[in-house]
Amino acid sequence: MTDHFAFILPFFMAVFGIIFLTAGTWSAARATWWGVGYLSAAVAFLMPVLTFLPVPLAAMIANLLFLTAFFAYGEALADRLGGPRLRRVRLLVVLLALPFLGHAVLIAADLRQEIIAGDLACGLLLLASVASVVRRAVLPVDRVLVAVAAMVVAETLLRLVLFVAMTSASAGLSTESYLSSSYAFYVQMGASMLAFLLALSVLATIVHDTVLGHRTAAEQDPLTGLLNRRGFDLGCGRATRSRALGAVVLGDIDRFKRVNDHFGHAAGDDVIRRFADLLRDTIPVGALAARFGGEEFVVFLPGLAAAEAGVLAERLREAFAAQAWIFHDDGVPITASFGVSALAASDHSVHDAIQRADARLYDAKCGGRNRVVVEGQSVGAANPSLRVVSIN
Ligand code: GH3
Ligand code: MG
Ligand code: MG
Repeated sequence: MTDHFAFILPFFMAVFGIIFLTAGTWSAARATWWGVGYLSAAVAFLMPVLTFLPVPLAAMIANLLFLTAFFAYGEALADRLGGPRLRRVRLLVVLLALPFLGHAVLIAADLRQEIIAGDLACGLLLLASVASVVRRAVLPVDRVLVAVAAMVVAETLLRLVLFVAMTSASAGLSTESYLSSSYAFYVQMGASMLAFLLALSVLATIVHDTVLGHRTAAEQDPLTGLLNRRGFDLGCGRATRSRALGAVVLGDIDRFKRVNDHFGHAAGDDVIRRFADLLRDTIPVGALAARFGGEEFVVFLPGLAAAEAGVLAERLREAFAAQAWIFHDDGVPITASFGVSALAASDHSVHDAIQRADARLYDAKCGGRNRVVVEGQSVGAANPSLRVVSIN
């Protein structure tokens, strides 16, 4: 039974290693170091089965691979959660372990010393990494990952303490008797289950990142990072469920086609991005901002009345018109027009209010552009002194 078991562990670790390495090539997942770790451990667990190799050589390779695996797990945790990598500390642990392992395996042929040096180094390597990321685990998947990694540390060090106690001179059990005992077998089973649990936790983070990546791509405008129409609709659905009313601001850059024609499409993209940045900086927490295609933007402001939203739109308008552009410095500002409306109790969805804001935006364009028109107020009332601006 023990012999068969010897193949199962490297097999499942290799499978997970390959899965993690593959997932590491996807942009959303950071799993390459987990792949390196699991594959290293898989080969390390396989070494005793490779009987054609001289025993000391196989043992030395296995120890180096275990150290590599635990070093890689630390890199993987830091990749995912940030924070100090503690590379120097962890390399020092490896460097300190090597002479002990070399002496135990190559000179003294002391299995007990080899197990103590190897397990202690592996436990300390992971302990340093877990300690440096534990506060950064906020998402549930990260908390589970760090908790399981901490369990691996605890299991490794506890197993080591028990091993030392059981094989001490006073206890009288030889290392060989310990290793062939059913206690050692079940301890090994427990460690394997934890390695399996850790792999499942890593898999959960990969699934989480991948789903989140696709969701973000489906709901976000790639040029500006604002929501797209779909993301806006979903966000509004959530917001209007909890807070019924609010206001809508529709913004559209003036004479944008001319910006593209005069300064090029890339300059046009810059203008769109800058408008989006201003939006992000201006709107309050809880508001939703989206690019509805082209140079048209929508903001939903939960809980705000039309007049309050008009004040915010006016701030935006002023800030945008005051922007300096590296691609043209003739003093003629690039401007935007805004239409503002409030959600009515009779509205079926936020799109009814957007339609009314669109009509007010049309008024702003007809009224000479570079202005804000608020539902219920006359054209130009928000900023009556504005001049009509064109880029020519
Ligand atoms: P108005 O003041 O009436 O709004 O005039 P306008 O020229 O801004 O209006 P119009 O909506 O006709 O022009 C929008 C232009 O935006 C047309 C299209 O070429 C350009 N456009 C749409 N999407 C993008 C984009 O992603 N990048 C750039 N640079 N231009 C875009
Ligand atoms: Mg426009
Ligand atoms: Mg437009």
